[in-house]
Amino acid sequence: MNNSDKLFIEADMHCHSLASSHAYSTVNEMAAAAKEAGLKAFALTDHAPAMPDSPHIWHFNNLPVIPQQIDGVTVLRGVEANIMNFDGEIDMKGSDLDDIQWVVASCHLPVMKVGSREENTAAYINAMKNNPSIDVIGHCTTMRYPVDFEKIAKACREYGVFAELNESSVQFKRSPEENCIELLNACKKYETNILVDTDCHYAGIIGRTDYAQKIIEAVDFPEKLIFNKNAEKVLEYVSKKHNINL
Ligand SMILES: [Zn+2]
Ligand SMILES: [Zn+2]
Repeated sequence: MNNSDKLFIEADMHCHSLASSHAYSTVNEMAAAAKEAGLKAFALTDHAPAMPDSPHIWHFNNLPVIPQQIDGVTVLRGVEANIMNFDGEIDMKGSDLDDIQWVVASCHLPVMKVGSREENTAAYINAMKNNPSIDVIGHCTTMRYPVDFEKIAKACREYGVFAELNESSVQFKRSPEENCIELLNACKKYETNILVDTDCHYAGIIGRTDYAQKIIEAVDFPEKLIFNKNAEKVLEYVSKKHNINL
């Protein structure tokens, strides 16, 4: 990408490193790719321990060894937690969250069983209600866990949690376009802030959101509700939540 091609987002808040063996890039490779692409920040959000192929809990406990900034790019110390059941419990709690600055919460096979539309929706809403650590609900547009998007968007607004439009999930056909459109229309209706994230498992695609952008354009989604178009806003939100200075 050349410098005149401005990225759609300034902060990619859902990124995986080779701490999980089904992802392929080091933190330094990710930071270099982020800088090259023009991102100002990204969140390192490897899979929390309930997921097969996730790193050991020590990965999360030791995140402070990674500099907060690498070559001018802010690296947030995050996790992609697993929603474990319909009560909305997640697999990152208590002191394991001490040094975590960003929490994506998602439903994944084989950790979370697939319920009815009502049960899946309740799982997400209970997760938001019971875990103030959660910042964003990851890829709820997936076909694997049908949900009521109106209820999700409304709950996100109520609990101050972001909804996510997930580039990888769209690109690799796990999130059908109609689900994404339904989520975006519901977020528009309730004025729920969203994040557009790549969920990259390879550094080369960090910050690139071409598939998601097409859907955003198709529904004429308001730019003011895309929170990570502006990295400053994201870093201010994280700084305030964790009482740190980013
Ligand atoms: Zn993964
Ligand atoms: Zn995920």
